[in-house]
Amino acid sequence: MTTVTTARGARAVRVAAQAKVNLRLRVLARETSGYHQLETLFLRLSLADDVYVRVTGGERTLDIGGDFDARQLGPTERNLAWRAAEAYVDATGWPSGFAIQLDKHIPVGGGLGGGSADAGAVLRALDAISSTPIGEEALLAIAARLGADVPFLTTEHPFALAWGRGERLLVLPAPPEREVLLLLPAFGVNTAHAYGWLADAREIGTAPSMTAARFDPSSLSQWESLTTHATNDFEAVIAARHPQITALVDALRAAGCAIAMMSGSGSTVFGVLPAEGALEMPRFAAGGSTPAPHVLLTRTATHVEPIVVTE
Ligand code: ATP
Repeated sequence: MTTVTTARGARAVRVAAQAKVNLRLRVLARETSGYHQLETLFLRLSLADDVYVRVTGGERTLDIGGDFDARQLGPTERNLAWRAAEAYVDATGWPSGFAIQLDKHIPVGGGLGGGSADAGAVLRALDAISSTPIGEEALLAIAARLGADVPFLTTEHPFALAWGRGERLLVLPAPPEREVLLLLPAFGVNTAHAYGWLADAREIGTAPSMTAARFDPSSLSQWESLTTHATNDFEAVIAARHPQITALVDALRAAGCAIAMMSGSGSTVFGVLPAEGALEMPRFAAGGSTPAPHVLLTRTATHVEPIVVTE
């Protein structure tokens, strides 16, 4: 399906772990295992963490710098970049050690897939350096065990439709590059709570049905037709608890964004800016006890950045 860049002979590489937004996120039937079937459209952004991976003779380290609040990141053993490296070693017996450095730029816990992108970057890096790479299929099997966003974020494709637990991917041509405004509310959303609220809403019939859609894949690569598929099952149940979500979506729409919605299980709200003409920059004043959101401007990706050899 994809080509994984090679960096044979290298000892160290740098990977741009690009964030994602979900342009569509449907939560479908719950399996007996407890996992839900998903139907989601992933699109990479140019916003990225810098992930440096070096193979070592035995020592294993993880250093984290950049913009993050240390309280939001758990212990090293729970870090997805670390877990990805350990999973790769468990599956292949190589390398005996690794030194990983993360420079965080993707806001943590906002539905932008930062941790999953770091994990995908580590898997790509190790398989690129390895003299006996395991290839994409085996890499994606490891990725799937780490989380639903990790398989897509391990591929070198900027845009895909995913099903199952995120491991069944249909790669699509990316829509033309656009600017994206990310609005980060001060509150976060616990993903387990979001699933619980959605289940409650379904029980009383106030959430969308669980029917999967039929797509004409060609309609997904143009912004005009994509607009009709853009929906997120979590948005209404989270907005019911956090009205700021609706206010931010409405402000982006009023400013001219045809697509304005929440990403993942929130709390980030994003707007895809019009191709031409200045956006009427919305004002996000704090309202009552609700602080104004943090605002970041980025772009949609039309390619995944190649791996760079550093040593
Ligand atoms: P998703 O859209 O995949 O649900 P997210 O953007 O909401 O992801 P992340 O930024 O990946 O969330 O962080 C979610 C949690 O994952 C954080 O609370 C953090 O403790 C944990 N985490 C583990 N590894 C990382 C990492 N490398 N970077 C950021 N968070 C990580």
